[in-house]
Amino acid sequence: MSEPGRIKALSQELAGQIAAGEVVERPASIVKELLENSLDAGASEVAITLAKGGCEGIRITDNGSGIHPEDLPLAVTSFATSKIGEFSDLYQIRTFGFRGEALASIAAISRVELSTRTKGALSGARLVCEAGKILEISAAGCPEGTSIHVSKIFEAVPARRAFLKTAARERQACLEAITQLALPRKNLRIRVKADGRDALYLPETADLRERIALLFDPELAGSLLPVLETCPEAAISGFVSRPDYSRSNNRQIFCYVNGRFIRDPLLNHALATACEHVLAPRQYPAAILFIELTPGLVDVNVHPAKREVRFRQPREIYRLVVTAITSALAGAPLKTEASGRFLTYRGSGERFESRLREAVSRYYISRPGGNFASRTDPLFTEPVEKGEGPSRDGGMKFSDLNYLGPLGETYLLFSSPGGLIILDQHAAHERVMFETIKRSCGEASSAGQRLLMPEIISLSPGEYARFLEFQGELATLGIEAEPFGGDAVVVKSLPFPFQPGEARGLLEELMADGLEAGITESSAQRRKEKFLIVMACRAAVMAKDLLSPEEVKGLLETLDETPSGTTCPHGRPIYLAFGLPELEKMFKRR
Ligand code: ADP
Ligand code: MG
Repeated sequence: MSEPGRIKALSQELAGQIAAGEVVERPASIVKELLENSLDAGASEVAITLAKGGCEGIRITDNGSGIHPEDLPLAVTSFATSKIGEFSDLYQIRTFGFRGEALASIAAISRVELSTRTKGALSGARLVCEAGKILEISAAGCPEGTSIHVSKIFEAVPARRAFLKTAARERQACLEAITQLALPRKNLRIRVKADGRDALYLPETADLRERIALLFDPELAGSLLPVLETCPEAAISGFVSRPDYSRSNNRQIFCYVNGRFIRDPLLNHALATACEHVLAPRQYPAAILFIELTPGLVDVNVHPAKREVRFRQPREIYRLVVTAITSALAGAPLKTEASGRFLTYRGSGERFESRLREAVSRYYISRPGGNFASRTDPLFTEPVEKGEGPSRDGGMKFSDLNYLGPLGETYLLFSSPGGLIILDQHAAHERVMFETIKRSCGEASSAGQRLLMPEIISLSPGEYARFLEFQGELATLGIEAEPFGGDAVVVKSLPFPFQPGEARGLLEELMADGLEAGITESSAQRRKEKFLIVMACRAAVMAKDLLSPEEVKGLLETLDETPSGTTCPHGRPIYLAFGLPELEKMFKRR
């Protein structure tokens, strides 16, 4: 590599090996990329200003290394970076950036004004670039560090503007991106102003706990258990909440791999396994976890926005996380032994192995191909070909089926004169609940049942903002609630079949800004549908509740009366049928 710190164009070959992709989806993606650049440049102090939630303008000023004036044109060129020089570097990355793509993609869809001065230089330089064209580069007097102002966002691509949500929601997304980056950096001072108001201020903090207290509720900071496990190739550290603190969604789970914030289903699954015996079903802990791996064991070059990574040894990572969390929750170090290079989990054997198998096979299905996904993994099985989805127009009645018994924790087996039927109990209940709640909402009388004792619950600022936005719609779904000072709301009614005491979990789930809830939908109709799905899913019996034969009979009768009784509201089939001719074929009798 030539002079460190200077920007070079990557060779075409290397550029081609990089998982390139559109990085600019919304203002929050701009904020994330720019803040990452500031951190890569060693900044200890950053100021961010958002206009209209970042939709109208984003300004970010840092006290980092600055950019050499001669490098300014390269800074806004695709695949020019000061961070890597050759392919092998891709596996040793410790910086956020490495594709040299972000500034170029941002400049292509906006107006960028950048001024910068390197440490000790006598003067700085300024660059103006609009819709990918450099309009000006000049010498300029400016403080050390870099200041970037991005405006006219998506002006050249109006179609993209149409996808932006309300300013409040975009601002929330920007703040989340900033939180993810700022949380682990206790020495970073950061100030965020949004539309003239202080939205976030983080001073230097003594430790991570203090950071967490500033960013989340103090209740959480007080209920954190330290997590720490190491083995020769990997280490995990951080905090997990005590079992008496839980959330109904996973939004307080922050995982960092080699310093990079990621959302990873494998890690979430491992956390769920570790917490299985201490939390109620569908409750999540809060957790801030840092996983450090030898860089060669993780590929960060798989996702355009770098939100996902690929582990070379997912099984070992899974073991490490479960072991670490289990022993943190136990309050004392759990007996572990280093076997080969990774720890051996000493927990509940069979259950753990089956959870592990499930997580790892899902992992390979969701991340096929790539540089080191092993397709020969014995646990990786292609999804089995399904039996043909049965149609009900043959006049099949669920209640005519002959119940044979449960299969595993989720399925019910039936025989009919035509063959074998496997019913997914949870999916069936979801469909029934969905139709029940929908019907009761459609009735003229109030859908909700008044609670004898109104329930007061406190929401996070984000949840509260979303609550205000959707208060009216929630009322049409039978959830009557009103602001109750601060970020608290008082819930006065809940729809059938929700019981008092379930208001908090239900509201949190509905107000979580996830794709699973409906609030990302723009049409009120679709939003209502999504809200109903979330409610149905909560109301349905958990798959593993064992039903008595009477309850099975009741479920079948209800299914017969339920419209669209062949799929659950998520669109998954409720049952599979294997006809006798099909079975004969499978047994090679025909
Ligand atoms: P990458 O971060 O992947 O290298 P970017 O397009 O984000 O690519 O940035 C291109 C280059 O511009 C970086 O490699 C870095 O040298 C320089 N740069 C960008 N922002 C800053 C900043 N705030 N301070 C110093 N250098 C910066
Ligand atoms: Mg970058």
